[in-house]
Amino acid sequence: MDSKNMGFNTKLVHAGDFEDAFGSAVVPIYQTSTFAFKDAAHGARLFAGEEKGYIYTRIGNPTIEALENKLAALENGFGGVAFASGMAAVSTVYFSFLQQGDHMVSTAAVYGPSRGLMENVLHNLGVESTYINTSDLDLIEKSIKPNTKMLYLETPANPTISLTDIKAASEIAHKHGIVVVVDNTFSSPYLQKPLDLGADIVLHSLTKFINGHADIVGGAVITKTEKDYKKVRKTMTYLGGNMDPHQAYMVIRGVKTLSLRIERATENAKKIAEYLENHPKVAWVKYPGLKSHPQHELAKKQMKDFGTMISFELKGGHEAGVILMNNVKVALLAVSLGGVESLIQHPASMTHAGVPKEKREEAGISDGLVRYSVGIEDVEDLINDLDQALAKI
Ligand SMILES: *Cc1c(COP(=O)(O)O)cnc(C)c1O
Repeated sequence: MDSKNMGFNTKLVHAGDFEDAFGSAVVPIYQTSTFAFKDAAHGARLFAGEEKGYIYTRIGNPTIEALENKLAALENGFGGVAFASGMAAVSTVYFSFLQQGDHMVSTAAVYGPSRGLMENVLHNLGVESTYINTSDLDLIEKSIKPNTKMLYLETPANPTISLTDIKAASEIAHKHGIVVVVDNTFSSPYLQKPLDLGADIVLHSLTKFINGHADIVGGAVITKTEKDYKKVRKTMTYLGGNMDPHQAYMVIRGVKTLSLRIERATENAKKIAEYLENHPKVAWVKYPGLKSHPQHELAKKQMKDFGTMISFELKGGHEAGVILMNNVKVALLAVSLGGVESLIQHPASMTHAGVPKEKREEAGISDGLVRYSVGIEDVEDLINDLDQALAKI
């Protein structure tokens, strides 16, 4: 069956599959670095692109390609390119579409290393950038300069859980001939399909929801057009951030249950967000599914459901955060997100402990901010866990 005619869940299980000589039920791992040509003319045809086939795993490999085709089908894109990590996907997108003298406008609450790469590497090569609150569409329009070539969005953004209207932002960018990139890691194609909303390029850290089991690191770029696909693939083969076949096999296995995992974890997240919102030691909760979220209506319009990421602020500030961290027993104290296991993090005392307070607060990280990535455990266990730990504050 052509994946174009499949529903989303059928794509999760079957898109990208191919028949092998033995009728293998799952995509086999082609753990090989190189592929033998039948003869000199065959090698020449493959290199000239006149015949489909495999040459060398950095350029292409059947297991990796099966994953790339599945991801392209899930995002309704033309093609996909898989990477060794999410950051390899980010860097390849920057190098594919930005040159010396170009300017990029980006969501300010973007994934830290995406900004770090821009400001510490791309700036040295003559690329400029402006970081703004992309929830404000007028600010996007105002930030565009004659040399702006990329609008880089993350929605919902981390840790503010603020949303950007992808459709409206893409319309503004396209008026100026600007390529629109969306880091869709926080949503996955189950919750949000940026290409359908007008974006040109989607990228993922597969490490998070798509693999979903906290056992590999990986990345992907999915493009709307063939032209952009060719550009990204070419840049990837130069930069060398390709995925490994074994990694691809793991992601193909993990992604099959994406809908089931997110549906269950979202059900849990809604209950936890409500529980926290009514807790006397919690100042506020940011979750797109709560009516109190300033972009609740946009979330309903743009996303299939509200996702599994919650931010909340403890009234007791830094000290309360440390007590909570030291007393939760079910949720793991860890960075990352989107796995079957619940993860909790207090940035002020953990990931951002070395960042000066003003810089932290500029990025939306207050003293009592806690980030919770809700997993698929029993929600009663997760709430009881939070309840006993909050009681210690
Ligand atoms: C984790 C993450 C990345 C980077 O991905 P890696 O797989 O860790 O390299 C990029 N963007 C977002 C939003 C992420 O959460």
